[in-house]
Amino acid sequence: MRVFTATACLAHDPGAGHPESPARLRAVLQALAQAGVPLHEASAIAVEDLLPLHPFGYLESVRTLARGGGGSLDADTHVNMATWDAVLAAAGACVAALEHALATGGDAFAVVRPPGHHALADQAMGFCFVGHAALLAHRAHAAGRERVLIVDWDVHHGNGTQALVEGDPRTRFVSMHQWPLYPGTGAATERGRANNCWNVPMAASLTRAQYVEGLWDAILTATDRWLPDLIIVSAGYDGMAGDPLGGFTLEPDDYAEWMRRLRALAPAAPIVAVMEGGYAPERLAAGVLATVNGKR
Ligand SMILES: [Zn+2]
Repeated sequence: MRVFTATACLAHDPGAGHPESPARLRAVLQALAQAGVPLHEASAIAVEDLLPLHPFGYLESVRTLARGGGGSLDADTHVNMATWDAVLAAAGACVAALEHALATGGDAFAVVRPPGHHALADQAMGFCFVGHAALLAHRAHAAGRERVLIVDWDVHHGNGTQALVEGDPRTRFVSMHQWPLYPGTGAATERGRANNCWNVPMAASLTRAQYVEGLWDAILTATDRWLPDLIIVSAGYDGMAGDPLGGFTLEPDDYAEWMRRLRALAPAAPIVAVMEGGYAPERLAAGVLATVNGKR
């Protein structure tokens, strides 16, 4: 699994004490380097590359806020001078991971921040500015992939991804998330405008196996007689035991197990993972490493 990142992601800083800190990505990069995993530095994308998903006026407002020194877009989504460059760099690493997968058929992981799955078309929220998973689905369709499965295993509902893909039946979106929890969406009855969404709300403090099988059951339902030709994973690790924002009980091997099952489900479909949440940096790093390297 080829790992892409971008150094500019480290300079986005939402402020002292904020859980979405640069220390998260630093811990991941350090763990990958110590394990001997090569890191591939990606180029930033251009703002024009985001226009299929996000209106220019919204993107310009983020850029202007950053260039002016920073500020807040909602109660917990903050911008500093480096945020705009980090947004373009993170999306660039995600696109590089997708292009690797499309060109070679191999799997890839974009290890980035800020995360993306809460971002709406014209609104930053939940630490997110740009919809990475939805952007990759859009680009995959443009490249001829007709059946794109997005699996969101972050502990929060991927409301932004859902909003950006729910009208396109070529994408199917499966999200398991803690309920109730931020952002409050993701009821099982939310199926999307094209009936292409499967939401799995789960209580906190269940067993690891209940989470592993709960998500897997939904994936099997979503892919019944519909095998994906590309799999995108919104890979958040705030579902791990010990995360300060989540109440799930997952361990690193559980993510490796999902990866093993996804590969067996659709052997011809490359997997592109994009890093979302995970707020205990050492646990996040262990989760990413297990996803990249498999069971240990
Ligand atoms: Zn999350």
